[in-house]
Amino acid sequence: MTLYKPFVCTFLLALISCPLGAQNAAQPAAPTVFGYRDFAAQAKIEELFLAVPDARLAGQHLKTLTSEPHLASTPEDRKTAEYVAQKFRAAGLETEIVPYRVLMNQPKVVRVEARDPGGKLLMSGPTREHVDGDPFQDNPRVAIPFNGSSGSGDVTAEVVYANYGRLEDFDRLAQQHIDVRGKIVLIRYGANFRGVKIYLAEQRGAVGVLLYSDPRDDGYSKGDVYPMGPWRPETGIQYGSVQYIFKYPGDPETPGVASTLELPDAARLSPYGNAPHIISIPISSHDAAPILHALGGPKAPMEWQGALPFHYHLGLTGGPGGVKVHLVSEQDFQRRIIWDVIGKVKGSEYPDEWVVVGNHRDAWIYGAVDPSSGTAAMLEAVHGVGALLKQGWRPKRTIVFGSWDAEEEGLIGSTEWVEQNAAAMEHAVAYFNTDVAVAGSDFSASAVPSLKQFLRELTRSVSSPLGGTVYQQWRIGHPAREERAKASERRSEKTASAEVEVGDLGSGSDFSPFFQHVGVPSTDISSDGDYGVYHSVFDNYAWYTLNADPNFVYLQEMARVLGLEAVRMADADVLPYDYPAYAKAISSYMEAAKAKAADRRLDLDFGPAQTAAARFSAAAERAHGAQTAASGDLARLNLALRQTESALLSEQGLPDRPWFRHTIYAPGEFTGYSAVVLPGVNEAIDARDARLAAQQLTVLTQALDRAARSLGSAF
Ligand SMILES: [Zn+2]
Repeated sequence: MTLYKPFVCTFLLALISCPLGAQNAAQPAAPTVFGYRDFAAQAKIEELFLAVPDARLAGQHLKTLTSEPHLASTPEDRKTAEYVAQKFRAAGLETEIVPYRVLMNQPKVVRVEARDPGGKLLMSGPTREHVDGDPFQDNPRVAIPFNGSSGSGDVTAEVVYANYGRLEDFDRLAQQHIDVRGKIVLIRYGANFRGVKIYLAEQRGAVGVLLYSDPRDDGYSKGDVYPMGPWRPETGIQYGSVQYIFKYPGDPETPGVASTLELPDAARLSPYGNAPHIISIPISSHDAAPILHALGGPKAPMEWQGALPFHYHLGLTGGPGGVKVHLVSEQDFQRRIIWDVIGKVKGSEYPDEWVVVGNHRDAWIYGAVDPSSGTAAMLEAVHGVGALLKQGWRPKRTIVFGSWDAEEEGLIGSTEWVEQNAAAMEHAVAYFNTDVAVAGSDFSASAVPSLKQFLRELTRSVSSPLGGTVYQQWRIGHPAREERAKASERRSEKTASAEVEVGDLGSGSDFSPFFQHVGVPSTDISSDGDYGVYHSVFDNYAWYTLNADPNFVYLQEMARVLGLEAVRMADADVLPYDYPAYAKAISSYMEAAKAKAADRRLDLDFGPAQTAAARFSAAAERAHGAQTAASGDLARLNLALRQTESALLSEQGLPDRPWFRHTIYAPGEFTGYSAVVLPGVNEAIDARDARLAAQQLTVLTQALDRAARSLGSAF
């Protein structure tokens, strides 16, 4: 029916072995694509684009980017910025390296020593990460294990074990009359963002935190450990930031303001409000085991038991004395220079409407998966865009590629850039993120509801190394490898269900400033797998080629999906936002919040908010009709569509965290990574604060009314 072929395989026979059978390739092409009046011309452009991203070249980028540890602001990080800038320029992008001066710590001294009640030394560390045969672990530029934003100090105290350090874990300790005041809390990684663990420990009066990786969560009990397999070996340590990014991310000293080199010190905030005061240190299960083993006191609940070979206890309280730990943390906090790399292709019709694509570049150590797989994929997407430019193509909207720095310390490079470009962001039509781009073969995505269908449709146009399209593989589902065998039942259920699941955006990566601070519709994509070496020295090129993607075909897949998001959005006649889906999501969030309020016996009137949601829903249906027709004043329609997302922001932001302005999505204050929906309303209900919840319902009602008016202004 059209010239458009959903498979690019035929163009690629020279480059990769083609996995598509003839019967698959016979699937009919999509006759129409939402947002396009006539897709035929665009289909040719997309074919050209999809043929360019190259697996071998992506592998070379990965190898270069991961050749040395490149913590933000180090000379090695600067070198990766120059490499990325050179590739941007080679593709024909207008390129600049944008520096910021931001507060970050690097570790000077980190020490952990544990003694039993008799004073006998149980362990002293942290032990360096080591396995037999890893070629990267001994580089002297590997930073000693530390947490970004950890406090400095020297404390000695008894130890209490607090499981994952969730709100309910601390509550359970309190129910058992175990007081963490003045104690050092031993917490395992998993279940929430590590900054939340420290935040809760600090609120409850702890003086320090030891974070460790239990083999139950990402070690031998999942499968073979590196270098035999992909899971965390016993000396493996998860580095990471404990910044309170759920309060605000970015440079701690400049919330809402860009930390340019020119910004005077007097304009910086002191004291700042998004970092802990207490010490936290990450250790391995090798170092945690002797401490946990020696802990007395009550037995830990069964769900708190990890995979170390003894029963866990909670620690002594008020007895003759328990295990004592001595922590030393000397953190060198300085205002340091970081470098974003920005590459632009100016739009031919709507130059002020930016489509932004981004990925961070800095790593705790080598960062093969996190984030270099994302950077390698983005560079091949840029390669594809460059090939189109060389053939005379110009996107209708401006495309901007961003290689963010210092994401690991607290989304710093992206946040500062968004704050600096806040005015331009009012017209930005999308932000497409990737971070942990490739850890295996399982495609997954999160997005604002208005872009979920865009992603589903787009992934039908990209072939999967597993055969068929990315969409088909995504829809089949991807249970963890060890569960594959027993998953066939669930799989057929999934296949029968209406649509593939696209997650909601919480936080923990660079989409957060775009989406939650300035209201740019966003997506985040990745290709997942068994990945036990997150934020460890073992997340390196050797691990990657053994476990994740030996032939770099998933880097190629992600380059195609990421680049196609930009090309298709940049050239669309009508912005392909799906507001009926958004309205449906909001109505269901509202029902759930109402039920929760009733459950807690809070007397709240959801009537006005539900009426506003219904008005928004009606406007969304009308807009969708106009988008499908794609006739009339398209500039006006596009403006109305774009302003609808901004209309969902509130001027005053969330209670106690004004930097987060989105009324529908925020990172949870007590989860950090995962999204809280209708955050103002739901968090007030959780806190059983009826007055605040009522006030937040009013804020939500106003936002929905604004959004409905914005959609209505197109007609
Ligand atoms: Zn990352």
